[in-house]
Amino acid sequence: MRIDLPRQRFYFFGVELWISEFSIVFLTLMFLWILIAAMAMIYGRFWCGYLCPQMIFSETANGLEKRIIRFVNRKLSNGSPRGRRFVAAILFGLVLLPASVLVTFVFVSYFVPPLDLFHRLLSFDLRTTGGIVGASVTLVTFLDFALLRQRFCTAICPYGYLQNMLKDKHTLLVHFHDPLDTCINCNKCVRACPMGIDIRKSSHQLECTHCAECIDACSGILGKLGKQTVIQYAWGDPGDKSTPDGNWFRRIGLRDGKRIAVLVLLLVYATGLSIAISVRQPILLRIMPDRITLYSVAADGKIHNRFRMLASNRGHVQARIRLSVADLKDGRIEGIEDRKLLEPGESAQEQFDVVVPPASLHAGINKMKILADVTPGKTGQQFQETFFAPQDASPTPFTKSR
Ligand code: SF4
Ligand code: SF4
Repeated sequence: MRIDLPRQRFYFFGVELWISEFSIVFLTLMFLWILIAAMAMIYGRFWCGYLCPQMIFSETANGLEKRIIRFVNRKLSNGSPRGRRFVAAILFGLVLLPASVLVTFVFVSYFVPPLDLFHRLLSFDLRTTGGIVGASVTLVTFLDFALLRQRFCTAICPYGYLQNMLKDKHTLLVHFHDPLDTCINCNKCVRACPMGIDIRKSSHQLECTHCAECIDACSGILGKLGKQTVIQYAWGDPGDKSTPDGNWFRRIGLRDGKRIAVLVLLLVYATGLSIAISVRQPILLRIMPDRITLYSVAADGKIHNRFRMLASNRGHVQARIRLSVADLKDGRIEGIEDRKLLEPGESAQEQFDVVVPPASLHAGINKMKILADVTPGKTGQQFQETFFAPQDASPTPFTKSR
């Protein structure tokens, strides 16, 4: 999924949508929004713990920094602690810089074509807006992973707060539950926590991203003693661990009407989106009259009405449009190629005339159709139009001035 800002395109699971396709873009955004809200309501901070790039790269930066510190301590075991810290920081920065460029490249590629971005990167473009934005985002990324990391989640990220607002008494939580007093107070869960909190104090701490590192830590230490972990995922405050004898819909988190309503809403939007995408025509074609003049009469006496055609090829192959006139005897199209070709992604706006001999017309208004033979896609599109003829049955010819 990406938004190509310069080309005003929205890519959604392989479908190229134009920003002007408002209904599909709207349905897509609504579907994603409800999906995110449903996920937060049912599964808590699932996004933060398992999908968020900020969290993934923060944990990667933590791991990398620890490895570098261990490496430097091993190689410079005779050096002073301050010197070792300095060398480790330099080494970490040297690794982080290209990593920040890569992360920024991926991020900015969601909004501009990757090839264009790649060329800007190779030419160290710092003059154009795109180059300056790229360099700025790289700097912010570098500082983020050098200094902020998980602090970003509690200090800046609005989605973390939003998820906390969406959860309720049935939401999946990381839960400390120790009725048998099994905890040995080893504090391994606290040391393992990337957010530096103690889950034993509460399952509702704002900092907790539900990454489950503490569950792994506790399982590891208590497992060695032949005991079960006392930190686990559980549904809501009561710590319902959803035993296998529960209903399947309770086991997957559908524990009240609110959740089922959200799921139904999600299905409605998904269905609407699927239908909108399946009936979408690759060629967008509109024909409208140009009423600056109602009609004109050519030197040969034929009556002209001018029209405009707007066409966009939203598909991946060349399109061909052929126009003709129906319901007006001897009516012809003039001023546009017989077969208008449109390359993929191309839009065109063209004017053309419908030309009819006066003998085929009633005075005043004449109903007619403009037929568009469009390939590929739906053929035989019809546009109901009106052709104006002079009220006077024998008009005075004049040369068209347009
Ligand atoms: S308390 Fe556990 S689940 Fe929450 S952030 Fe810390 S390690 Fe992750
Ligand atoms: S890791 Fe488990 S046993 Fe150790 S302090 Fe944490 S909850 Fe207690």
